[in-house]
Amino acid sequence: MLGKSQEELREFSESLGEPTYRGSQIYHALYAEGLQSFSAMTALPAKLRAQLAEVAEIRMPRIVRQHRSADGTVRYVFELRENDRAKPATVETVFMPEEKRQTICISTQAGCAVDCQFCLTATLGLIRNLTAGEIVGQVIVAREENRATLKPQTNIVLMGQGEPLLNYDAVIRALRILLDPRGLAISPKHATLSTSGIVPGIERLAEEAVRPKLAISLNASSNEQRTRIMPINRKYPLEKLLEACRKYPLRPWERLTFEYVLLGGLNDSPEDARRVVKLLANLRAKVNLIPWNPGNLPYRPPDPTRIEEFRKLLAEKGQLVFVRYSRGQDVMAACGQLALLESQQVISTTQLTASVD
Ligand code: SF4
Repeated sequence: MLGKSQEELREFSESLGEPTYRGSQIYHALYAEGLQSFSAMTALPAKLRAQLAEVAEIRMPRIVRQHRSADGTVRYVFELRENDRAKPATVETVFMPEEKRQTICISTQAGCAVDCQFCLTATLGLIRNLTAGEIVGQVIVAREENRATLKPQTNIVLMGQGEPLLNYDAVIRALRILLDPRGLAISPKHATLSTSGIVPGIERLAEEAVRPKLAISLNASSNEQRTRIMPINRKYPLEKLLEACRKYPLRPWERLTFEYVLLGGLNDSPEDARRVVKLLANLRAKVNLIPWNPGNLPYRPPDPTRIEEFRKLLAEKGQLVFVRYSRGQDVMAACGQLALLESQQVISTTQLTASVD
């Protein structure tokens, strides 16, 4: 049932000989209330609950491990098996509590085919796409697990495993439920999709009536440099990517976010900063600088003076810029701390810090 739209659930109710409004009640119970079993849906008649338990199933992602950081961040390892046709998969979801809100970082694919050189998920290759239900389920379970301390505002960031725009249909289907005021009721202002720069996906997203904010993983100041750390740049070079960004129809309250992981000695020079300013000229954008966290990859963290110099150079040219320090470093939930072995699989989350704003 998870991942079904209100319309589909209404049709499903009809197919059971029930009035269509029962479908809306199920939709509300599943997504607005986060109920994880039919027996808990007490707004439905007992007979229907029993019938649903026979003919349908709510298969929530199952927590197989969780790691709690000293700063309150919780990293969940979920086992997913939405149906018998789908390969079992393991992904991560990170819950970050703050004073007035929580941010949940979710995965959209198990593994990833994009091959960014600073990301260990890339070494897995693509295992499989997640279904809409598996994407929505991560938010429901993470919220339920923290119900006692939940703040009124939830932010979601699609920045976990996978490239969201390469699993477009399932991601959009999930977002329609997540952002639906009658569904999980997350505000589009509090939802961010992060992409490595899949231009056709950005163009499609621009056409959607319901869409989150858009973040682009930039990470370099020239094509040569970007291709070296993000080979996807060969297919969608900076000119094409930034052209799609310039055409992207921003809502009045919206800015594009550009994430820039600072890799010591590689992309953190003053020349890089000046080139970034030029690249982003004429874009309503903000830049999140994310100092690299030590991981099992041949990069090093940037020098603190370089970080400040980079930030200052951007700010002086009028570019809105923030330095984002990672959370959950002690449980390997932080941006760039990508190496983690779970059941013989390297699992990672990326760009996490960029979300917390
Ligand atoms: S950074 Fe994102 S898009 Fe790039 S390989 Fe890792 S998961 Fe895929």
